[in-house]
Parts: sequence; C-alpha cells; structure tokens
Amino acid sequence: HLSERLKRVAESVPEGARLADIGSDHAYLPVYLAKKGLISYAVAGEVVKGPYENAKTEIEGEQLETTIHPRLADGLAAVEPSDQIDTVAIAGMGGALISSILESGKAALKGVTRLILQPNIGEENVRRWLQQNHYQIVEEAILFEDGHYYEIIVADFVTDTPQYNQSQLLFGPFLKESKSAVFVDKWTAELNRLRGVEKQIRQSTTPPEDKLAQVTHKMKLIEEALA
Ligand code: SAM
Repeated sequence: HLSERLKRVAESVPEGARLADIGSDHAYLPVYLAKKGLISYAVAGEVVKGPYENAKTEIEGEQLETTIHPRLADGLAAVEPSDQIDTVAIAGMGGALISSILESGKAALKGVTRLILQPNIGEENVRRWLQQNHYQIVEEAILFEDGHYYEIIVADFVTDTPQYNQSQLLFGPFLKESKSAVFVDKWTAELNRLRGVEKQIRQSTTPPEDKLAQVTHKMKLIEEALA
C-alpha cells in the first residue's frame, strides 16, 4: 500500500543503502525497501509518540527488527555515528521544516552522500539549503496524487558549491527543463492564483507596493518558465 509519491522516493534510494527516514510515521518507506532487499539497514525516526508506535508495530509485524530501527527523536538526532547512514529521506513535510531539520542536524550528515527530499510546499527553501550545503541536485520528479502536487528532490554531496539561479531554485533545475504536463498544470494554477492576489492588492485603497512588486515578480518568473 505504498503511495506513488513514496514509490518515487523509494526509486532514488541507492541499492544496499543505509537509510535514515526522518518523519517516517508508519515506516512504510523503509519497510517497502527492506522487504524487497533493496536496503541493508535503516533508521526510522519519529518525533511524535503515536507515529513512532506505528513504525514499531509495522516493523515488528514484518519481522524486520534487525534491519529497521525505529527511534523516537527530533529530526536527525535519531541518527547515531555507528549507524553509518549514507542516505537520508525526508518526505511529506513542508520545505521550511525539511530545511530546518537538515540545518540543525548537520553533524549527522557527515558521510551522507544522498538526500531524497519530498517537500509538500516551499520547495525553494529546500533547494536553497542544498545549494548552501554542497548538495547538488541530480534528479527531480513531480507528480499529482490525491489532489496534491508533490515534488521529489534528489541531491548528492559534492565538494564544490552548486550554482542555481532564482528561477532554478523556485521551479527546480530539472523540472523546469522537462516542463512535464504536471509541472505546467501546477504552475498554471499558481499563476492563476497570483492573478487573483494581484487584483485584490490593486483594489485595496492603499496598495502595499512591496507586496505587489513581489507578486508581479513571481508571476513574471512563472510566465517565463511556462513560455
Ligand atoms: N514520511 C512519511 C510520508 O512521506 O508519507 C510520513 C509523512 S507525515 C505527513 C510527517 C511525519 O513527520 C509525521 O509523522 C510527524 O510526526 C513527523 N515529523 C515532523 N517533524 C519531525 C521532526 N522534527 N523529526 C522527526 N519527525 C518529524
């Protein structure tokens, strides 16, 4: 019962990985991968007791206790050096939360060569963090499931600093190039929403100039990306 979204996340986990899935909830991702023999070890981190118990139950039900280790902890505090984690997945949260988990867990990222991130919103935050922390985006995907657009960002550690312009940070360097039907739908909907926002701003008695400039700038970027 894995969603298309999590299946796409799973596809980018390197074979034999030592995975940390942060915010794992039911641990569906590591359980799916371990059952297929695609990972050698995993930590399923959860900060909330209920989801942590869900993860534990799921792992025990599948008799995967030797491979997948549930941990009740905030973000990357779930990871210990002896875990020798090389791949981190963080899915199903806002981009700002994902970035803050990465930022406060930097020490645990030593030796992590791949990040697979699936922000529900605020993808730009995630790409900016990657750029500033030596992770180069190597793959991206966008999909529409259950009424939501989901982006998946895969990044590998590099020694130099990746360079992305404003448009690449907002849309994603690969998504912007591929311009898939789902990508076009997502940004067309956002453009229409911003048109409504712009109209409302202009109708107010004292239009806030900075807000207006911000909205029109974003609309221009979207128009360029869709052109
Ligand atoms: N990763 C799964 C997925 O993509 O389907 C579950 C997503 S669920 C919507 C988000 C989970 O992240 C929740 O179970 C929540 O408790 C957990 N979470 C939120 N902040 C966290 C943090 N700082 N550290 C660990 N888990 C966190």
